[in-house]
Amino acid sequence: MELMRVGEEPGQDEAGRAVEWPADLDVHRLLEQGWRPTSLRQFIVKLHSRCNLACDYCYMYEMADQGWRRQPRRMARATIDRVATRIAEHAVAHRLSGVEVILHGGEPLLAGVDHTRYAVESLRSALDGVARLVVRVQSNGVLLDDAFLEMFDELGVAVGVSLDGDAEGHDRHRRRATGRGSYDEVRAGLERLASPAYRHLFGGLLCTVDLANDPLVTYKALLEFAPPMVDFLLPHGHWGAPPPGLPDPGAVYGEWLIPIFDHWYRAARRETRIRLFSEIVRLVCGRPSRSESIGLSPVAVLVVETNGGMEQVDTLKSAYDGATGTPLNVYRDSFDAALLLPAIAARQIGAKALSPTCLACDIAQVCGGGLYPHRYRPGSGFRNPSVYCLDLYRLITHIRRVVAADVELLARSAPA
Ligand code: SF4
Repeated sequence: MELMRVGEEPGQDEAGRAVEWPADLDVHRLLEQGWRPTSLRQFIVKLHSRCNLACDYCYMYEMADQGWRRQPRRMARATIDRVATRIAEHAVAHRLSGVEVILHGGEPLLAGVDHTRYAVESLRSALDGVARLVVRVQSNGVLLDDAFLEMFDELGVAVGVSLDGDAEGHDRHRRRATGRGSYDEVRAGLERLASPAYRHLFGGLLCTVDLANDPLVTYKALLEFAPPMVDFLLPHGHWGAPPPGLPDPGAVYGEWLIPIFDHWYRAARRETRIRLFSEIVRLVCGRPSRSESIGLSPVAVLVVETNGGMEQVDTLKSAYDGATGTPLNVYRDSFDAALLLPAIAARQIGAKALSPTCLACDIAQVCGGGLYPHRYRPGSGFRNPSVYCLDLYRLITHIRRVVAADVELLARSAPA
């Protein structure tokens, strides 16, 4: 098929002005047509809005949205309690059996051990007898010491850490404001987390792809810590501010990921779970996705900023200043109010949110247009193919071919 390497044309309002989709999405019409919002299952709670690193690709501090400058540094205890109550209220209203809270930042561990303990205990107390609560923390690993790990062990908090591969690859981007690389500090934190005393808390590693790094060297550097899960993230960017190396006719990011997929898929024993690949394998087999970066499943995630403001997923900060904002705050509003905002509904309507190019694509059910922020084009908004369109097409069709060949072998070897 002919894949599109540019965004769709902008929409227009009645006066002929450009409208960025989904600002013109009519949620009441959707409701009349029978669409119903999906309840929220995952809450990303910004415990601290600043960071002790200054990674050059960070969507929080280095990209279009500078909203962090307006946020309190740390979420106040009263706000934490309010968030916990709102989550419990949502769980009751929607009869949820379980919810997940990810303590996030900035760097959430900057909040300190006592404050983080307070947050987890407040959440556990509000959800007690209401719904099963999974708490995770997503950290850069620098402050991961025994005091934090003992507290996480006591309160049952899983820990995810960002690591971009070996020392050279990691330190190219993940540095202190002084320019000093953070690899040695992260490694020390990870060795503590991966030690027998705390290994059960290890949630996994997040690795942002850098084309300058060798894919297999990067993957093997991550495996050194025996992570239970690895997630490869594509660097943030969109049609107006393309990621490093794009546009390129050669699907460079797809080509970078394929050697890792082949190694992982053919490994004699399962080395780890790689979320992106596992989800694509599920999707090519006709199952729904469980990740917002791929597929058409409704996104059931909401962010709460340190001031209690409700926001969309924060990777959208890479698009434009204010991209994630909503007028809602936990002090005034329930999470149900967020479900009816056009920007939130747009993430829950599956194929209705896709561009004409994606709708005509033979892998649309698997790709789903890619991660939402990567679809942004100034002037037309988010109803565009991903800026990673060629890469996603290359990766997904490769995985589909590999899985289809195995399914065929299986079918041939099955007894008649
Ligand atoms: S569904 Fe994915 S691969 Fe297909 S056109 Fe859209 S972004 Fe490209």
